[in-house]
Amino acid sequence: MNFSYWEFDFYLKNIDFAVIGGGIVGMSSAYHLRQKFPSARIVVFERDFFSAGASSRNAGFACFGSPSEILADVEQNGWDSVLKTVQNRYQGLKALQSIIPMAQMDGMQNGGWEIFESSESEQFEAVANQLEFLNQQVKCVLGFSPYHVGTLENGLQNISGAIAIDQEGMIHPGKMLGQWLQINRSAGVEVLYGLNIEQVDVESGSFQIRGRWFHPNKLVICTNGLTPNLVSGLDVIPARNQVLVTEEVLNEPWDQTFHLREGYVYFRSIGKRVLIGGGRDLFRDQESTLELEETDNVYQYLKNTLEKFLGKEVNIEHHWSGIMGMGKSKGPIVQPLSEKTYVAVRMGGMGVAIGTWVGQELANMVE
Ligand SMILES: Cc1cc2nc3c(=O)[nH]c(=O)nc-3n(C[C@H](O)[C@H](O)[C@H](O)COP(=O)(O)OP(=O)(O)OC[C@H]3O[C@@H](n4cnc5c(N)ncnc54)[C@H](O)[C@@H]3O)c2cc1C
Repeated sequence: MNFSYWEFDFYLKNIDFAVIGGGIVGMSSAYHLRQKFPSARIVVFERDFFSAGASSRNAGFACFGSPSEILADVEQNGWDSVLKTVQNRYQGLKALQSIIPMAQMDGMQNGGWEIFESSESEQFEAVANQLEFLNQQVKCVLGFSPYHVGTLENGLQNISGAIAIDQEGMIHPGKMLGQWLQINRSAGVEVLYGLNIEQVDVESGSFQIRGRWFHPNKLVICTNGLTPNLVSGLDVIPARNQVLVTEEVLNEPWDQTFHLREGYVYFRSIGKRVLIGGGRDLFRDQESTLELEETDNVYQYLKNTLEKFLGKEVNIEHHWSGIMGMGKSKGPIVQPLSEKTYVAVRMGGMGVAIGTWVGQELANMVE
């Protein structure tokens, strides 16, 4: 279907900044570009009606890292890199809250827990023994010591140990994205849904929709795990993550979040329902995909895990998947690819935390 003259003239002509991707990073990039270039024409192009990547499909944890996740990352990447990531996550969450108040995205910041199953008492002891040192390191970048061994009082079963995480929080990702849309539109940023960018030309900063090429002044690519469809040669590996939400099973909502297995599995409540997600550690090859599909094995694994902790069977009412962007290194890629084209991708499964800050970094870089 060709664009009409009217569509071309009104929506697609004379674009200063074309941002591809309407997730948190695209929205934050557009917002910060608007701050820097008050009279520029900025247009966000999103292929789906909401966001077909991760920003409206995640678990909504506003977190900077559980103890076993951080210690495992240190083994892979060393303290400097891991502490930088912890700091970026914390700063990113502050940046998000400075633009969208917590109340507008059903946010809470009452802390979280890392929990260890009955069969993981040795792992719990090993992590607990390193907490003092971990707190010292983390305090250098956050200014406080977040981790303490504690006792859970919410009736969870089959637990050998629990570590409290101060200042961890959670949000409603749909409301967050809705707020970004409202803020950007009121600042004069145009956001166009349902337009799939078919190709980009990095050197000229051009992009193609419905077979027709467009030439903005600058092109900004914020497509995270879906980036390999548009640009080759970047270290971005798609990684699917699946989520289940139960029927109402709790007597009272929990106001804290829960992590286990080095952060690969996580759960929280949504009112009296429980959301549980993850499991990529057990199904890594299967979940390294761009396909937005749900699978029985991950479903059963997450459901069984949750039932163990709740001590009862539960019915699942929602099951979905989303695509994250991972890579060999855990940090994001925020850089120019040419004079005309920039990327801000590879959020490493922590884009709720770092996404706002990444958009700000991108805008700082663009001339
Ligand atoms: C199940 C799940 C749970 C998660 N839980 C958490 C969590 O609790 N806390 C946390 O911090 N992070 C979490 N994450 C990660 C977080 O959601 C992501 O890191 C973050 O949303 C990435 O934001 P983004 O804007 O970079 O990418 P995305 O949100 O993926 O946005 C990219 C957008 O680009 C669009 N797009 C792609 N290609 C094109 C194209 N050719 N043309 C037009 N548009 C295109 C896509 O439709 C998409 O909307 C989770 C992710 C998943 C999948």
